[in-house]
Amino acid sequence: MIELRSDTFTKPTPGMLDAMMHAEVGDDVFGEDPTVNKLESKLAALFGMDEGVFCPSGTMANQIGIRVHTQPQDEVICDKHSHVYLYEGGGMASNSGVLPNLLDGDRGRITAAQVEAAIKPEADYLTTSRLVVIENTMNKGGGSIYDFSEIEKIHKVCDAHGLSLHLDGARLFNAMVETGETPKQFGGVFNSISVCLSKGLGTPIGSVLLGSKALIKKARRVRKVFGGGMRQAGYLAAAGIYALDNNVERLKEDHAHARALGEALAKKDFVREVMSVDTNILIFSVDDVQKRLSQLKEKGVLAIAFGAQQIRMVTHLDFTDDDLEQTVDIIKTL
Ligand SMILES: *Cc1c(COP(=O)(O)O)cnc(C)c1O
Repeated sequence: MIELRSDTFTKPTPGMLDAMMHAEVGDDVFGEDPTVNKLESKLAALFGMDEGVFCPSGTMANQIGIRVHTQPQDEVICDKHSHVYLYEGGGMASNSGVLPNLLDGDRGRITAAQVEAAIKPEADYLTTSRLVVIENTMNKGGGSIYDFSEIEKIHKVCDAHGLSLHLDGARLFNAMVETGETPKQFGGVFNSISVCLSKGLGTPIGSVLLGSKALIKKARRVRKVFGGGMRQAGYLAAAGIYALDNNVERLKEDHAHARALGEALAKKDFVREVMSVDTNILIFSVDDVQKRLSQLKEKGVLAIAFGAQQIRMVTHLDFTDDDLEQTVDIIKTL
């Protein structure tokens, strides 16, 4: 089967497995796993931030981020389609006791003006606006990329109102290879950043939350409380180090593959609309989602429903040039 349901289906390559097998490890709860420490400081240095903390999932990295920035009864300003709101099981409510204040962005991208208008004045009967979360690239927006100048404006608004700014950067590397922006630019405007190693970068597991020394000190405690303190996690961190060294630039290939799939689909009458393909996510609308998904599956291609009239395909490390050729041929027959 050709796997296009998500970029989380990738399996470690022989090179990555080799790096994992040869990792030097220790007990990370004691801070003594040299490979975890190396991954955390490598990413912190890359982004020009103080420290990082290795987490088992991107959800945990985001949830820790929300927890360390907020107090119960605060609110988190984010897009109504954001991962922290839609796909983290309502965690911000139970883990941190906070409410989302949902904005309606352009393909998931909110603006500084929207943020400013959403910030609540101080009053005993209102929630306290405390944190803004943005997602780049934006999953529900079809892998859309923020304009960096808008992020800078959002940063200024947050600064002016004493709000923190968190980046859900699960696919931040996809954005950066496309725009040429650098990790340090992002490190300079966010109070915390979560990055996933298990999406396009192809590791089996792992995300890192980055921030200031004081913030990551708190984050380590919250990670332990959430059950995310791991022991010889260096075997997993080694995959992350390998991915950062080998799998970043190649993300461009995934983007080219996604664009080619988008072009093939745009030619089909049954496809009503193909969202602009900016990175490795392709979202298109059809009238009969289940029918099209089964047709694709019958011919060997897996995709997923993404809302009542949308289908999502995501390209990744294990989707090869050959797979692309085959998939385009299959699309032509539909
Ligand atoms: C995948 C993803 C995450 C984290 O997901 P996990 O499956 O918990 O690792 C966070 N944000 C976005 C935008 C994602 O796509």
